Amino acid sequence: MMLLNDKFGRSFKTLRVSLLSTCNLGCVYCTMGTEEEVMIDKKAQTPASVFLNHIAQLHAQLDLHTIRFTGGEPLLYRELPQVIEGVKALGIPDIKLTTNAFLLDRIAPALKMAGLQYVNVSLDAMDEESFFRMTRRKQLSRTLKGIETALACGLDVKINAVMMKGKNDDQVLPLLEYAFERNIPIRFLEVMTMGHLFGHGQEYLFSQEDILNIIATKYSFTKQYRKSSSTANYWQTAEGKVFGIIANDTEPFCQDCNRLRLDAEGNIYGCLSNNHAIALSGNESEQDLKDKLQQAMSQKQELHFTGSEMSMMHIGG
Ligand code: SAM
Repeated sequence: MMLLNDKFGRSFKTLRVSLLSTCNLGCVYCTMGTEEEVMIDKKAQTPASVFLNHIAQLHAQLDLHTIRFTGGEPLLYRELPQVIEGVKALGIPDIKLTTNAFLLDRIAPALKMAGLQYVNVSLDAMDEESFFRMTRRKQLSRTLKGIETALACGLDVKINAVMMKGKNDDQVLPLLEYAFERNIPIRFLEVMTMGHLFGHGQEYLFSQEDILNIIATKYSFTKQYRKSSSTANYWQTAEGKVFGIIANDTEPFCQDCNRLRLDAEGNIYGCLSNNHAIALSGNESEQDLKDKLQQAMSQKQELHFTGSEMSMMHIGG
């Protein structure tokens, strides 16, 4: 096993696997809403055996503690239960998924059975009009039903909400109240200048401070201690309810980021701010794999998230 630590003591402990680069929603921060991005059934999918081979090799070097499946939309990946079962068999302790939950209602029990424990649901609005403005799709009710089913199955659910100035900044309190009523942990995210937003995403930035100012109109709260490698800052309201903010832009967490990313073409990346793909063949010698991981580690930013032209639809959020 390899002890890969950089000068900040960072190592790769979490692997985020983007299973495919297509999605059934067209979220405005992630996509341009083109046909190509939603050509769901027309693209061949990478077999689960190929992902599992890469994951096993990486795990042997890194002793991973978390795998998070993402995309595109991972629920569109046909072998999702099989890939989860395979990761469980490798003995990786935490198996997580990031999804828009549109299809979760029907598949949540099978995923739980396969070994999935944690689900982050992306939910950026609580009314149909704002939901459409953010996702270019109707039927918010499908996402909400997916959340209810996942909770009923015993999955550990969190909500992630990307906030964009002028698009859904009126949704902070409705989202917070939905989460508080159900005791679902919620994190608000500052928008990142990735993909089509690279170079001009700042115009949509609704900052941590903006979000706190809105919450302060209804709740009083105190800041909580931030755990190392946590992506979010957390606050607790006087009523004991907790919410988080992932301040990707104004307070990035680069210095204790422990993430490695694998895309559906078998490329690894050490940082979202660097879109240079490091290709894995799946047949690397131990030394070759170590060299590639070292290269991925050297991609990590020291302090500032700068974003890149890489689409989140491709590399996963
Ligand atoms: N389709 C799944 C979903 O919606 O959760 C997984 C993939 S999607 C790329 C995952 C998440 O990435 C989004 O919901 C959002 O939280 C995050 N994301 C994508 N683009 C982003 C951006 N420009 N800024 C901030 N977060 C972004």
